[in-house]
Amino acid sequence: MTSVSIKNLSLDFGAVSVLKSLDLDVQEGEFLVLLGPSGCGKSTLLNCIAGLLDVSDGQIFIKDRNVTWEEPKDRGIGMVFQSYALYPQMTVEKNLSFGLRVARMPRDEIERRVARAAEILQIEPLLGRKPAELSGGQRQRVAIGRALVRDVDVFLFDEPLSNLDAKLRGELRVEIKRLHQRLENTMIYVTHDQIEALTLADRIAVMKGGVIQQLDAPQAIYNRPVNRFVAGFIGSPG
Ligand code: ADP
Ligand code: MG
Repeated sequence: MTSVSIKNLSLDFGAVSVLKSLDLDVQEGEFLVLLGPSGCGKSTLLNCIAGLLDVSDGQIFIKDRNVTWEEPKDRGIGMVFQSYALYPQMTVEKNLSFGLRVARMPRDEIERRVARAAEILQIEPLLGRKPAELSGGQRQRVAIGRALVRDVDVFLFDEPLSNLDAKLRGELRVEIKRLHQRLENTMIYVTHDQIEALTLADRIAVMKGGVIQQLDAPQAIYNRPVNRFVAGFIGSPG
């Protein structure tokens, strides 16, 4: 079953065409990586799916529902950004529960969801701390936790590890993979890092200039790049 379906999507900033008649189907439970160089439109595409940007043309479907003009909060998606966007004055526990409290969820359900997210992400000992008292990797776990407590169908990640050092990046990469294996929900993950793409993805969409150049399994792209750009960006040298 298709989880996220993008049909003929275009987005212009003024006279500049950033996404060009893009089509993409993401399967339910799939880990799809959007890979491409800086400026190719990855964040723009993710923001369109999240509803943070209005499209210029085309449609976005989530679980067969046309969400093109739906509010971000109604789309059943959770987004994790490169910068952590945590509330500095709130504890981890309050950061995790904030959205649920705003939505007036019953207190025991909030507690259940926060406890589950904290257990999955192994941040139980941090619940009473404030963001300033956390490492970069811990903050990013809390940011993931905020999407997790909302019980969303689709996770959107925009370069979530690019602010971390190499060692932490490796650790959190494993963590995100484990999270996907446990939750089995759809994840769309933006990166410009080939290693991240090759290790995380079920399929990789290689982007350049607002167009998807190739969409396939990591091994297929690596071994059989469709053009010179893809070969240069990710393909095997031979
Ligand atoms: P990526 O995430 O792949 O690095 P982006 O989606 O952020 O790329 O940006 C794609 C292109 O759109 C870039 O050329 C960028 O300069 C341009 N762009 C992004 N946001 C805006 C904006 N708000 N106004 C004008 N141009 C923008
Ligand atoms: Mg970006």
